[in-house]
Amino acid sequence: MDKIVALCKRRGFIFPASEIYGGIANTYDYGHYGVLLKNNVVAQWWKAMIQDRDDIVALDSAIIQHPRTWEASGHLAGFTDPLVDCRTCKQRFRADHLQELQCGCAPSKHPGEDPRCDLTDAREFNLMFETTVGPVKEAGATVYLRPETAQGIFLDFKQVLQFARRKPPFGIAQVGKSFRNEITPGNFVFRTLEFEQMEMEFFVPPDQAQHWYEHWLRERFDWYVRLGIDPEHLRLRAHDADELSHYSSATSDVEYLYPIGWSELEGIANRGDFDLTQHAQHSGERLEYVDPQSGERYIPHVIEPAAGVGRSLLAFLCDAYDEDEIGGERRTVLRLHPALAPVKVAVLPLLRKDGHPELARAVYEQLRRHVKTEYDDGGAIGRRYRRQDEIGTPFAVTIDHQSTDDRTVTLRERDTLEQERVPIDGLAQLLAGRLAVE
Ligand code: ATP
Repeated sequence: MDKIVALCKRRGFIFPASEIYGGIANTYDYGHYGVLLKNNVVAQWWKAMIQDRDDIVALDSAIIQHPRTWEASGHLAGFTDPLVDCRTCKQRFRADHLQELQCGCAPSKHPGEDPRCDLTDAREFNLMFETTVGPVKEAGATVYLRPETAQGIFLDFKQVLQFARRKPPFGIAQVGKSFRNEITPGNFVFRTLEFEQMEMEFFVPPDQAQHWYEHWLRERFDWYVRLGIDPEHLRLRAHDADELSHYSSATSDVEYLYPIGWSELEGIANRGDFDLTQHAQHSGERLEYVDPQSGERYIPHVIEPAAGVGRSLLAFLCDAYDEDEIGGERRTVLRLHPALAPVKVAVLPLLRKDGHPELARAVYEQLRRHVKTEYDDGGAIGRRYRRQDEIGTPFAVTIDHQSTDDRTVTLRERDTLEQERVPIDGLAQLLAGRLAVE
């Protein structure tokens, strides 16, 4: 993990937020390449949800919803972690994570193991961030930053049913920020206070719930594999009965073998009719499907694949990270799937003279109209290759003496390091073919 964190900082993918003030716990900012990579992950998710199939529609609901939302969803009463305080070191710990945490009195031990430790009993602590709407705190309404995007989807179920003219089985997908007051140390972007989720609620006739649950387990597992994650580093783990959330009749996690060990990457839950029933009861609205032909009415059951953008991105980075040796020199390379790579091709003039920069600029202008391209003429060519390898750029195009004579360039492939001579004319089409997703 240290190597990934260092690379992310060195190349400006991800770095601690508020660093000039000493940082803020479990909070990170995404720099240029981080934003590009994140956008590519999200774009691939949308592609799988709404381009590659026609039974899902998109939604972007509000972060701050009516406070009763969280009463109905069970979050106000039940979205809690058990916490203990140490009266000696004044630190606060998740009671159910003590064996993974460091004691504040004796860092080589876990909290509670040193004779100086003086832990309180566990108290339930709600993870939702609270704020106030209105100019006066006392008179205003208490509202919450959403801890998941899913509830916004349930609130809009009726709207979507009408304007999208859908009938179950169909899904509503949404990507957006969620917020949780997490106390456990974050392990980089694995666990942060604010994070983006990619969630889809799939509404089905009750008797089809098991079928669709299994369908989404396969689909979501395969999505990660298609985007380059080694299937050996992925597994599906079904929750035991005592792990299940209050709303769920079955949940499985897609787990990834992070450097911190097997951990949840995405959860796929059979939520039954819990959410629609709860919101119907609390709002007084009927949230059900009525078949226009038969008049049959029922509350659809819901299958939910819920993924985190940061955790996915971290898994893609961990799986792509590699070190090898070229001509006795070590290189770090991100073997990212081309669809995810922040930059697809780098254009590099060999020299900063002899017409190389001019021709390289022209090639760059031609390629950038098709794919995300970067121009770099700073430093020795080897160093420039290394820089591109570190950000995962699949191809580099080098302009040299021969290029100005015969309008050919060297095309270098990141993973195999193969170099071939190809004409400038048709280069964009050649690259488009090689970068093609799937
Ligand atoms: P955990 O048990 O690790 O806290 P969870 O089971 O509470 O996770 P869900 O509520 O199922 O998580 O959320 C769905 C997805 O959202 C998770 O699989 C994860 O990818 C992401 N996620 C949840 N909490 C965080 C967080 N604090 N930081 C980053 N991503 C998160």
